[in-house]
Amino acid sequence: MKKKQTLPGHVRIFVIGAGFGGLGLAIKLRERGETDFLVIDKGADVGGTWRDNTYPGAACDVPSQLYSFSFAPNPHWSRSFSPQPEIQAYIQDVSEKAGVRDHFRFGVEFLDASWQDGHWAITTSAGSLTADFVVSAAGGLSEPKMPDIDGIDSFAGDVMHSARWDHSIDLEGKRVAVIGTGASAIQIIPEVAKVAGHLDVYQRTAPWVMKRKDRAYLPLEKFAFKHVPIVQKAYRTAIYWGRECFVPAFTLAPQLALPAKLDALDNIKRSIEDPEMRKALTPDYDMGCKRILISNTYYPALAQDNVELVTDGIAKVTGNAVVTTDGVEREIDVLIVATGFHTTDLPIAHHVVGRDGRTMAEQFEAESMSAYKGTTIHNFPNLFQIVGPNTGLGHSSMVFMIESQLAYILGALDEIEKRGVSTFEVKREAQQAWTDDIQKRMAKTVWSSGGCASWYLDAHGKNVTLWPRTTFAFRLALARFDIDQYDVEVTA
Ligand code: NAP
Repeated sequence: MKKKQTLPGHVRIFVIGAGFGGLGLAIKLRERGETDFLVIDKGADVGGTWRDNTYPGAACDVPSQLYSFSFAPNPHWSRSFSPQPEIQAYIQDVSEKAGVRDHFRFGVEFLDASWQDGHWAITTSAGSLTADFVVSAAGGLSEPKMPDIDGIDSFAGDVMHSARWDHSIDLEGKRVAVIGTGASAIQIIPEVAKVAGHLDVYQRTAPWVMKRKDRAYLPLEKFAFKHVPIVQKAYRTAIYWGRECFVPAFTLAPQLALPAKLDALDNIKRSIEDPEMRKALTPDYDMGCKRILISNTYYPALAQDNVELVTDGIAKVTGNAVVTTDGVEREIDVLIVATGFHTTDLPIAHHVVGRDGRTMAEQFEAESMSAYKGTTIHNFPNLFQIVGPNTGLGHSSMVFMIESQLAYILGALDEIEKRGVSTFEVKREAQQAWTDDIQKRMAKTVWSSGGCASWYLDAHGKNVTLWPRTTFAFRLALARFDIDQYDVEVTA
C-alpha cells in the first residue's frame, strides 16, 4: 500500500524537484546547518530527468567526470560517457551518503503557489503549507511534449513518449515507428532496430551527429580514480577546460565548428552508402544551431534492412498507421514519440502567482521568459529558480551551472540572515539589464543565425533557454549574492 505523505504546515524553504538541482540544494542546506526545508517530487525517487528517461540506450552526452557534483566525485564510472542507470545509481548513492533523504517527500505533486502577505501559500497533492522561500528546481526538460498530429489520439496500438518508456511493451518482431530524430531518438533507434520486425523513422529535420568517443575505463584508470583522487580531478579539469574552448564556435564564429562538421559528415559516409539517403541525412543549417548529437550506432541502424528513414511530412495517424503527406500509409503496432519537452512554455509557470496577482506564465507571455542570473524573477519575491531561463548549455555540464546557482542561493541566505531581511525581490531594471545583455550576445550566436528552428527558441524566435557565454563566466557572475540589485524588506 502507498504510504500517505504528511507535510508540515510551514517550512522555511520549500523546494520543488528532486533532480540534480533539488538534491544539490538539499545537501548544501544541510551543510550550512539548515534543517527547516522540504523537497517534494511527483516521482518516486531522486534523479529527475535521469529517473524518468529509462528508454533503451539512454546515456549522457557530457563526459562522466564532468557530469557529476564537484563535491561528490564518483570513482565507479565504468565508461567515459555514462549510461542512464549509472547516473541514476550515482544520484541515489549521493542522496543516501549525504543523509538528506528525510527532507524529501516523493509522490507529492506541486499544484500551485501564490505570494500572500509576506510568505508563499502552497498547495500540493498531499496538502497545503506555507513557506518563507520557494526554490523551483523542477527542470527544463521534465514535461514531455506530445506532437500535435491529427488523429494521434485515435491510434489503437501502444504509444509512448521517450521520457515515459513503458518497459512492459514488448517490441520484439513488432512494426514500430519513431517520430523525431533528436538526442533521445538517436539513442532509442539503434536499440529498437535490434529487436523490431520493422522500424520507420520519421525525420522532420536532420540532426548533426558526430562520432561518440566513448570507451570503457581501463582497470588502471578505475584504480587511480578510487585511490588517487587527484587523477580524477585532473581528468575533470582537463575535460572542463576542453569543453569551454568550444564556446566561441557557438557564440562568435560558427566556422570554428568546421572540424566537428567534417567529423559528422564522415560519420554519415562511413555507414550510409545510398547517395539519396546521405543527402537526406545531411543537415542544411549550421552545426550547433540545434543540439549537436553524438552516436556511433545511429547511422548504422538506419542502414539496416528492417529500418526505413521517412522524410515526408506526417499528415495524420490513423487507428493502425502513420500516413505521410504523399498519401503513403505505413502500418505499425507501436508508436514511439521522441518529440522533446515543454522548454519555453514551462507548465509550472502557470501555477505560480506573484506579488501583482499575475502568474509567472502571464508575466513571461507579456515580457518574455527571463530571470536575473537565471535565478530570481521580479514580482516573485523570495523565490529562486534552479536551471532557470538562459542557463542551458550546448557544450558542457548542467551540473556545473547548477552548482553556480547553489552558491548564489546560499550566498543569498547568508545575506538575508546577516541583514535581517524578510523579503527580497530582484529590481526590474536589474533583471532587464541582465536579459538585454544576454539577448545582445545572442544575436551573434549560431542559435540565432544558424538557419534552424530549435527548442532553444520561444514562439517569437527569441532564445530564452541557453547561456551565450562560458560556464566560467556564469560562475563568476553568480559568485556573490549582489543584494544591491534587490529591493528588500527588513524585519523590524
Ligand atoms: P528534441 O531535441 O526536442 O527533439 C525532438 C525531435 O522530435 C526533433 O527531431 C523534432 O524535429 C521532432 N519532432 C517534434 N515534433 C514533431 C512533429 N510534430 N512531427 C515530426 N517530428 C517532430 O527532444 P529530445 O531528443 O528528447 O532531446 C531534448 C534535449 O534533452 C536534448 O537537446 C538534450 O539537451 C537532452 N537530452 C540529452 C541526452 C543526452 O545527453 N544524450 C539524451 C536525450 C535528451 P525538428 O528538429 O524538426 O523540430
